[in-house]
Amino acid sequence: MNWWQSVESALDNLGGVAPLKAIYAEVRRVREANGDTTPISLEEVVRKELEYNSSDSSNWHERRDLFFSVHGIGKGIWGLRSSIKAAPAASDLTPLSESDEPTQTIEITINRVIRDTLMARKVKALHHCKCQICGASILLPDGRGYCEAHHIVPLGAPHKGSDLPSNIIVVCPNHHAMLDLGAMDLRCNDITAVEGHAISSRSIEYHNTIIVPAAKGNALK
Ligand SMILES: [Zn+2]
Repeated sequence: MNWWQSVESALDNLGGVAPLKAIYAEVRRVREANGDTTPISLEEVVRKELEYNSSDSSNWHERRDLFFSVHGIGKGIWGLRSSIKAAPAASDLTPLSESDEPTQTIEITINRVIRDTLMARKVKALHHCKCQICGASILLPDGRGYCEAHHIVPLGAPHKGSDLPSNIIVVCPNHHAMLDLGAMDLRCNDITAVEGHAISSRSIEYHNTIIVPAAKGNALK
């Protein structure tokens, strides 16, 4: 097995994204199981393979673009590019084709837009699509998990939140709605953390002191 293939299948076994330490151990296991060589320099070889095969790296060989590095999330966290496919769009939002034109006009108002930035997809992959609040994940027919990324300080005016991992929390659709609508406070102790992704306490404070009170204020109007 080629080295890049070993790294690819190791990452696949690890659920798509993992810290380097776990990748080294899994590559070793994969290669031993295949009767392939496991030199002393295995860690260096694996690091090079990740970089050679990733357009995120300045050492990219421009042949295959298999891996992504999660810049800004934490050094030494790598993932399979195929694991950050965009989430499926809601079927009730797809334009109707002429053949199934409705007999009556349906008025659709979209209140909540689910933003799926590339960074959000990387962070979701890092959490293997599990809600950081309740642990839930929706299993899609193609075997992938489904979850959503919430920008704690909302993107755009007037909040101008950032699209950085420190401002992103991975949640199930229920918790996403509750956070969007200011229906719950965020407490650090209730949030599941994974290596390489730290949520900023300033974002959490913003949610609790600006978003939630604003929602309550609107409710009283
Ligand atoms: Zn949840």
